[in-house]
Amino acid sequence: MADFDVAVIGSGPGGQKAAIAAAKLEKRVVIVERRNMMGGVCINTGTIPSKTLREAVLYLTGLNQREMYGQSYRVKDDITVGDLGIRTQHVIGREIDVIRSQLARNHVAVVPGTARFVDPHTLDVIDESNRDVKITADKIIIATGTRPARPASVEFDEETIIDSDGILNLQAVPDSLVVVGAGVIGIEYASMFAALGTKVTVVERRERMLDFCDLEIVEALKYHLRDLAVTFRFGETVAAVERRARGALALLESGKKIPAETVMYSAGRQGMTDGLGLELAGLSADDRGRIPVDEHYRTTVPHIYAVGDVIGFPSLAATSMEQGRIAAHHACAEPLHGIHHLQPIGIYTIPEISFIGRTEDELTASQVPFEVGISRYRELARGQIIGDTYGMLKLLVSPEDRSLLGVHVFGTGATELLHIGQAVMGCGGTIDYLVDAVFNYPTLAESYKVAALDAMNKLRRVARFEL
Ligand SMILES: Cc1cc2nc3c(=O)[nH]c(=O)nc-3n(C[C@H](O)[C@H](O)[C@H](O)COP(=O)(O)OP(=O)(O)OC[C@H]3O[C@@H](n4cnc5c(N)ncnc54)[C@H](O)[C@@H]3O)c2cc1C
Repeated sequence: MADFDVAVIGSGPGGQKAAIAAAKLEKRVVIVERRNMMGGVCINTGTIPSKTLREAVLYLTGLNQREMYGQSYRVKDDITVGDLGIRTQHVIGREIDVIRSQLARNHVAVVPGTARFVDPHTLDVIDESNRDVKITADKIIIATGTRPARPASVEFDEETIIDSDGILNLQAVPDSLVVVGAGVIGIEYASMFAALGTKVTVVERRERMLDFCDLEIVEALKYHLRDLAVTFRFGETVAAVERRARGALALLESGKKIPAETVMYSAGRQGMTDGLGLELAGLSADDRGRIPVDEHYRTTVPHIYAVGDVIGFPSLAATSMEQGRIAAHHACAEPLHGIHHLQPIGIYTIPEISFIGRTEDELTASQVPFEVGISRYRELARGQIIGDTYGMLKLLVSPEDRSLLGVHVFGTGATELLHIGQAVMGCGGTIDYLVDAVFNYPTLAESYKVAALDAMNKLRRVARFEL
């Protein structure tokens, strides 16, 4: 008999939820995690520290209050990394406590160390003192996540030339920052440092950023970031970064030189599979370290599953959790439905963006007709009260049956607000519901009613012309 029914490698959102789900199904479960990484990238270096940093930046800079109290309003003048770190460390500590307690309450054994396969049912776990322990399990769930990809040509020094993990260890808020790569992580950090007053330059090889988002909303974000003195260099590639006494010089292929105190590379992520001994389990990963899985998150070896960032897209904490739960249930012979096809996207830039469903560009490309209903926060009493004059909510509506094809939100609370639209879409609702519903007043949620009325009026106008 194996030591455990289920062994989980990695305690990020995917691993954690897999372990708890298997324990709830009364299985003997073990989770293996490296020292100081309980909670995974999500809690220690990714989602939670970055979102807490954002909250600290918003609070300390007073950025969201300036509409009311003037452009010079600040809660604190000289914001230090210490000020920012206090909040981050507090939240990380609390979150780790919650995870440890949940694992303990559900009798999940925790083995500290780094796991690697010895054979398809056996893991060898080595801790930081080089002691090792062997664990056997009937089912194994790999949830080892990713680390920042580092181009071989760049000399990272953890001080001046860093990746997104390095941002959390900066010794001071830099006066100037070059962000290489305008993906979600790059642009979130670019907006936080711009809000802190750092002079930020974003260099992106492609001509557009966040091209999976609504174009109008990305334009609004760019406008706001430019207003915070962010410079965008689209269609440009960094050829080299040279370390200098006062920082670094980013040399672009076009010949431009950008001096900066810090250069942050945000060049994608690499699956944490290289030290796993996958070959000894009969598995392999692709060149970006990702493990292929089927719709039940089962690898090519039927008793081994993989979930979370290590399987690639969409690489979000939100989806990793669901994948973990689904994989555990399948492994324990109590399968669940798969993940709902409607999945939200949240981008915690300043201001934030969130959407679900399709974009205008996608609908147009696939020749699906739609009407647009818009609500602007500045026309809502709540928008005026909180001083958000730029936020907006946009509904894409089918003229055929008035169902929602997409919901796009920009501004305060976008990532929370979106879920109202998700619920309506998920339940197959139409804008009729939003038009008839009474919303609390004054709220930002009211924007759904305003946008639905806008779409309804436009549809009515078209119908009149057709008479
Ligand atoms: C800066 C940043 C911001 C982000 N913001 C968001 C956001 O706002 N919203 C969102 O949904 N997602 C966000 N993400 C993505 C999110 O963090 C990931 O999708 C999520 O953490 C992936 O979870 P996971 O279960 O794959 O494991 P991870 O969180 O990646 O953790 C994997 C764990 O496995 C452990 N491990 C690896 N190899 C071994 C081994 N051999 N033995 C033992 N343990 C091992 C690692 O130590 C690690 O702790 C962000 C990511 C980053 C980097």
